[in-house]
Amino acid sequence: MTDIFNGKIDVAVIGGGPSGLAAATELKRAGIARVVVIEREPEAGGIPRHCGHPPFGMREFKRILTGPKYAARLVKRAINAGVEVHVDTTVVSMRAGGKLLISNKNHSGKIVATRVIYATGVRELPRSMRLISGVRAKGIVNTGALQSMVFLKGQVPFKHPVIVGTELVSFSAIQTCRHAGIKPVAMIEENTHTSARWPTGIFPRLVGVPLHLNTRLVSINGDRVVTSVTVADHLDNKREISCDGVVLSGKFTPESTLARMGHLDIDSGTGGPVVDQFGRCSDPVYFATGNLLRPVETGGFSWQEGHDLAQKVLDDLNGKLPQADDIIAIVVEGEMIKYAMPQRISRTSNQGKIQLRVTGDAKGVIKATSGGKPVGEFAINTRAERRILWPISSLDLAKSNGQITLRFDPK
Ligand SMILES: Cc1cc2nc3c(=O)[nH]c(=O)nc-3n(C[C@H](O)[C@H](O)[C@H](O)COP(=O)(O)OP(=O)(O)OC[C@H]3O[C@@H](n4cnc5c(N)ncnc54)[C@H](O)[C@@H]3O)c2cc1C
Repeated sequence: MTDIFNGKIDVAVIGGGPSGLAAATELKRAGIARVVVIEREPEAGGIPRHCGHPPFGMREFKRILTGPKYAARLVKRAINAGVEVHVDTTVVSMRAGGKLLISNKNHSGKIVATRVIYATGVRELPRSMRLISGVRAKGIVNTGALQSMVFLKGQVPFKHPVIVGTELVSFSAIQTCRHAGIKPVAMIEENTHTSARWPTGIFPRLVGVPLHLNTRLVSINGDRVVTSVTVADHLDNKREISCDGVVLSGKFTPESTLARMGHLDIDSGTGGPVVDQFGRCSDPVYFATGNLLRPVETGGFSWQEGHDLAQKVLDDLNGKLPQADDIIAIVVEGEMIKYAMPQRISRTSNQGKIQLRVTGDAKGVIKATSGGKPVGEFAINTRAERRILWPISSLDLAKSNGQITLRFDPK
């Protein structure tokens, strides 16, 4: 494989997860001369590498695979297509016009790519950002750290943890515990229902883990190691649960540190880079894809986004994308809509869908207005953290000025 610091690079992909690998593979298959994937871990494959459970791969390989098998197949497919996958290599800075500062074991320096695909995924909020009180005892991890300890390093960090959260990933945490012989003593959720769809709520009970709804974490107790957690119900009645660890699951946020330290615009709603419906960032040399765009979708959905992004990057390289600056900004108003992505849409194209999430149970209509006039509406009946896809083709772009405002109107 050519040294990454030598030669011209047509497309550099930052992040070798499902979305980055899919985009790279399709670009190479379409005839782009040099496509490199830059991955900071010792192996590419992204988060599925340490999700030692099914179901991954139905969309991509028409079969159900565990995460590690799925990741390995994606990497193999990319390499077979001719993609250069550079592991143990980290992008430490993104600069205007496709300049990347990168660092690996042997060298650190600058590369320049004609186009850059930014695909660094999501992570769970760490304890510090959840504002949980208590000391820094041993045994407090996110699901990602737990999975990597259990599946990649063969470690067992505790025996009887409490699992905080009920998103899909929280159920992965239970599966990971079971794999390692760990018996969670409780799963807690501050809402009246699990965040993941029914019938996931039955799963903890089936495997003997008590599920406590209406229950929030107040503090983590212990000195060197965790000895208990204090929880409170909706009436603020507090009690202690004995445990030797805590899994802080879910509450995802895009891994957008590079953009925050650099020059790309960031959306405060998604926490990811601002993009148009072609995945193009505020610097049009940069495109973004996968879970970096918004928290959070499945591996298959992220893979599909990367796969579809390849055609848009190709169109751009061939001068076929609409002008990057002829855009309408999408702005969210009110507390109910958590985010809308893309945050800009090209005035001359009605391709694509707006992805939205709401902050709680929502039955009603999302109204789109521009300059005070209605330009579209979309009926919803959903809950927090559920995917909403609104086709851009149903918006009247011709009637819109430079901004469309979205607002939820309950029925
Ligand atoms: C803990 C956890 C568990 C999950 N479990 C599931 C599950 O069971 N099923 C499911 O469908 N989805 C799950 N997800 C969602 C997951 O994000 C998607 O499955 C999928 O991995 C998204 O693909 P991606 O390519 O967008 O990002 P990722 O898979 O996250 O890939 C991003 C890659 O970028 C690399 N990277 C980041 N920064 C840099 C840098 N500066 N330089 C170089 N490389 C960098 C990372 O090392 C990583 O390999 C989980 C997510 C998390 C965080």
